[in-house]
Amino acid sequence: MDVVVIGAGQAGLSSAYHLRRTGLEPERDFVVLDHSPRPGGAWQFRWPSLTYGKVHGMHALPGMELTGADPARPSSEVIGEYFASYESTFDLRVRRPVDVRTVRDGDDGRLLVETSAGTWATRALINATGTWDRPFWPRYPGQEEFRGQQLHTARYQGPEQFAGLRVLVVGGGASGTQHLMEIAPYAAATYWVTRRPPVFVEGPFDEGAGRSAVALVEERVRAGLPPRSVVSVTGLPLTDAVRQARADGVLDRLPMFDRITPDGAVWEDGRSVEADVILWATGFRPVIDHLAPLKLREPGGGIRIDGTRAIADPRVHMVGYGPSASTIGANRAGRAAVRDIRRLLSGELVPV
Ligand SMILES: Cc1cc2nc3c(=O)[nH]c(=O)nc-3n(C[C@H](O)[C@H](O)[C@H](O)COP(=O)(O)OP(=O)(O)OC[C@H]3O[C@@H](n4cnc5c(N)ncnc54)[C@H](O)[C@@H]3O)c2cc1C
Repeated sequence: MDVVVIGAGQAGLSSAYHLRRTGLEPERDFVVLDHSPRPGGAWQFRWPSLTYGKVHGMHALPGMELTGADPARPSSEVIGEYFASYESTFDLRVRRPVDVRTVRDGDDGRLLVETSAGTWATRALINATGTWDRPFWPRYPGQEEFRGQQLHTARYQGPEQFAGLRVLVVGGGASGTQHLMEIAPYAAATYWVTRRPPVFVEGPFDEGAGRSAVALVEERVRAGLPPRSVVSVTGLPLTDAVRQARADGVLDRLPMFDRITPDGAVWEDGRSVEADVILWATGFRPVIDHLAPLKLREPGGGIRIDGTRAIADPRVHMVGYGPSASTIGANRAGRAAVRDIRRLLSGELVPV
């Protein structure tokens, strides 16, 4: 292949669309591999109560709008169907389920993409594996002794399962606040702990706000550091629902506890809460372990990129990583990666 694309979420499909537009043929010149069972990228796994109406700022894929969707339907269904129709409209021929296990150097300047369905040799690689498959669980003393249930956002299925229970939600991002607002009417009690005090921001999250958030992420990635949480650069938008939840006391935040006990959590100053469930809304990390043989990571733990191209290996593009980890960012990065890869394939850009 000229190009292998790993992942068929927003980032992978946008890349595949642009590859096709520049005249490359799926299955002949490029292939898109995805290990999930259905179209939709990570959206297919999002909880049913995350309706399409609750998703803010989902950008359409390039070349085809998402119109007339019912805001009351789960986003997993709406976006899953939209991605499926996108793949067939542009004949992208995504291969699934194909799990990419490792990418290593071949002998002839090609990369070898080793998968559950065989090995592809390729001149260039677009890594568009997102973050969903790598939920981040921080570690706290006493965690193993907790007698209740612990789960991560990645396994959240809606508020009903928490009826009558005391729920401790950890994490100051959009998932944490959404979980609290949904769970509070069902639960016996909810508590919210975050490392830093939450920063609520007025006004719409417009293009200007988006640009400054992206610039902050870019700065870190340029320095070879891993991207930080989304909320640390965007803040929490003050929607009407958030305003109401704050007024109702649902978003009264506690600082991070010092220790988990069999029955809840305690703080050094003597405070404590009792809980039946700890819900870790602590985010996700980039899925990049399969790239380890290429040694792209800096001592700081991140992959340094120029645009989307890995500085350590110009055959590798990271789309949906760091500054392009949003639906709009992934769209733009797909186009930029393809432009760069065309230069590589034409010999204009020489691999080191
Ligand atoms: C709850 C939640 C809500 C969000 N809401 C928004 C929003 O409203 N607006 C917005 O812009 N962004 C939102 N985001 C961020 C959003 O997820 C991204 O912007 C975008 O959807 C990510 O697209 P992606 O293609 O990079 O990743 P994904 O959609 O995760 O796609 C990655 C694909 O790669 C595949 N894959 C991974 N590893 C492998 C492997 N080794 N082999 C083969 N395939 C592999 C996966 O199966 C998956 O299909 C949200 C994120 C979360 C968690």
